[in-house]
Amino acid sequence: MALSLRFGTVGSPLATPPRPGGSVGGIHYAASIGLDALELAWVNGVRVGEATCAAIQQAAEETGVALSVHAPYYINLNGEEEKWPRLRKYLIDAAHFGNLAGATDIIFHPGTYFGHPADEVLKVTIPRLQACMDELRQAGNQVTLRPEISGKAAMLGSLADVLELARAIPGVVPCIDFAHLHARLGDGAMNTYAEWISAIDLYRKSLGEDAMRHMHIHLSGINYGPKGEKNHLVMEEADLDFKNLMRALYDSGAKGRLMCESPAMEADALKFKALWLEVSGEEQ
Ligand SMILES: [Zn+2]
Repeated sequence: MALSLRFGTVGSPLATPPRPGGSVGGIHYAASIGLDALELAWVNGVRVGEATCAAIQQAAEETGVALSVHAPYYINLNGEEEKWPRLRKYLIDAAHFGNLAGATDIIFHPGTYFGHPADEVLKVTIPRLQACMDELRQAGNQVTLRPEISGKAAMLGSLADVLELARAIPGVVPCIDFAHLHARLGDGAMNTYAEWISAIDLYRKSLGEDAMRHMHIHLSGINYGPKGEKNHLVMEEADLDFKNLMRALYDSGAKGRLMCESPAMEADALKFKALWLEVSGEEQ
């Protein structure tokens, strides 16, 4: 029986053997240790060609590993007008080559407020993201674009922001990063079963049951201060109540993928999976 959630890492597992290495090696290694999802970490730029994408897609097909892409960090939906053509190209390239590699979901950081209120920023960013989506669909590309919840209060990407982007644009669905959600306000909030249930309920009410069946979750431990995220932590060093988070997800009927972004990568991804098996009682 397949589990309700697939588990994997953002970036190839640390212990991926050097040959063939890269994403192809990462996919095979992930499958060999019991992971069934991988997010290609194209965070510093999209530097793949069509042949590499074909090899990645083949590896994913052979192993049954589901692929997503983490698009470059430089994307900023609220970037200055003259920079926007260059910024949007990072997203378009990630979606184009990700699609060629067999990835179904493209995750990106939505950007910064530059000190402006969220509702003003959304008025700028929604039409920009809509135009990116229109271009992809016209090219026959059916990927889901996933703006990620950000870890700092100064960054575009509150739960409300990403839900608003998703409500406004068909084909856009948030990436729910529970570590960022916890770190964002810097006060230790979003670390209880009740808070998670209410966040997931808001997601469900905003986007519907179909979105509950295709959740894309990022998770790691996280170090934070008053302004939010400082750095990601391994599971043991974190204050997050991972077990109750899994309970909230299970009790909400969450299905989809849970991607580990901890420094321990596959070791923590497997711990998250073990917690899920314990909490859900699901069997492989
Ligand atoms: Zn991210």
